[in-house]
Amino acid sequence: MHYVSTRGNAPALDFEAVTLAGLADDGGLYVPETWPRFSHAEIAAMAGLSYAELAQRVMRPFVGQSLTPERLLDLTTTAYGRFAHAAVTPLKQLDERQWLLELFHGPTLAFKDVALQLLGLLFEEFLARRDDHLTIVGATSGDTGSAAIDAVAGRAKVDIFMLHPHGRVSDVQRRQMTTVLDGNVHNIAIDGSFDDAQATVKRMFNDAQVTGRFAIAAVNSINWARLMAQVVYYFAAALQLGAPQRKVAFAVPTGNFGDVFAGYVAAQMGLPVERLIVATNINDILHRALSSGDYSAGSVTPTAAPSMDIQVSSNFERLLFDAGGRDAALIAAQMKHFEATKALQLTNTQRAAMATLFTSARADAGAMVAAQRWAYAACGEVIDPHTAIALHAARTIEGLPDDVPVVTLATAHPAKFGDAVHAAIGERPALPARVGDLFDRPERFDRLSGDYATVRDYVTARATPRHG
Ligand SMILES: *Cc1c(COP(=O)(O)O)cnc(C)c1O
Repeated sequence: MHYVSTRGNAPALDFEAVTLAGLADDGGLYVPETWPRFSHAEIAAMAGLSYAELAQRVMRPFVGQSLTPERLLDLTTTAYGRFAHAAVTPLKQLDERQWLLELFHGPTLAFKDVALQLLGLLFEEFLARRDDHLTIVGATSGDTGSAAIDAVAGRAKVDIFMLHPHGRVSDVQRRQMTTVLDGNVHNIAIDGSFDDAQATVKRMFNDAQVTGRFAIAAVNSINWARLMAQVVYYFAAALQLGAPQRKVAFAVPTGNFGDVFAGYVAAQMGLPVERLIVATNINDILHRALSSGDYSAGSVTPTAAPSMDIQVSSNFERLLFDAGGRDAALIAAQMKHFEATKALQLTNTQRAAMATLFTSARADAGAMVAAQRWAYAACGEVIDPHTAIALHAARTIEGLPDDVPVVTLATAHPAKFGDAVHAAIGERPALPARVGDLFDRPERFDRLSGDYATVRDYVTARATPRHG
């Protein structure tokens, strides 16, 4: 399996190289050259596998020669052994049609753990072969940072520099990052929004002065391996609900378009997906793009669902590329235009292809709270604000066939956003025991201005150069 850039002007890479890479050299994102496809019989044969086995089965075609099937199974077994629920991503029924897929049973209480626990092991595996040192640079709206830090803290061949927008992540999110005191963990609070932090990181990936000296890797969902790991739970949920005989719809709370793009990949691989419902909060660039073709970034308004307070959705480029017939020259031109003007217009081909699978919805604060109250009053479920946005979309979507179940991806544990949950339903969810004495531990982070050179100099002064 080889991976190619969405902008068509970077070398093709194998799985090992794409895992260790950041952006492609041409500024694009890597995607598999072709989608592996399972037959109905192959999908039917996945029923009853453990999560670790299913993960190995679904990911094997993407991994290609980079890992033996046995070694891949070792890694998925280790990664998913750290989850607090035996099913890893348990599915819960809310009513006749609505289901919740709980993705927050990992160490840092959000779905990011599902991919990052594995990614940490993949880094270690591939670095051991190369005897190299990796410098992870990432931006987080809260959950990627904590999950990535948990996955690599204390590992010898990795340094991690994680930028979060100062004052715009929840206390639990911040503490899950800043109370990890290992020497290879560097937390940076920058002034500005997540989009500002992400723009700084992207610039560093394109800065030859940095990439020439350091092996810079990504843990954001621009990293292909992350999306690959997320494809698995779409299979897990659909199999439980009767796939491949029965179609399933998914409602996905969306920010950087990584999670829902994994659903798109599952559909390309042959999973019978009736619909992917892209749910946004009032930072609704994706809702506007999918409903009217207008992908234009406004300014970010902070909400109770901070992990979705994003106006530039990195992975949307992958969909533009694939749905637009894989025309790399078109994507390069569209993205160049977007980078210059913060706006691009989808082509009719792109819009028509997206409309066959995607629907979108936007939830404001009132709709979000109403969904939390409904889940609590009608089903006894306490859900976090991000999950609530998707549940709102799941319950209001029109035109689905009657027999199609709708699975809402529950992306965070409600205790990660305890204040918002308390404000919505009057109950404060308890932090699970696995996060321990989070509020008693000392914090460590540096606060920097969002200025690019300041952040770059901070990183290059502390990172370990690549070997050789
Ligand atoms: C990251 C995150 C999202 C958004 O996921 P994307 O892959 O960026 O679209 C939604 N909910 C929570 C809790 C998250 O941490």
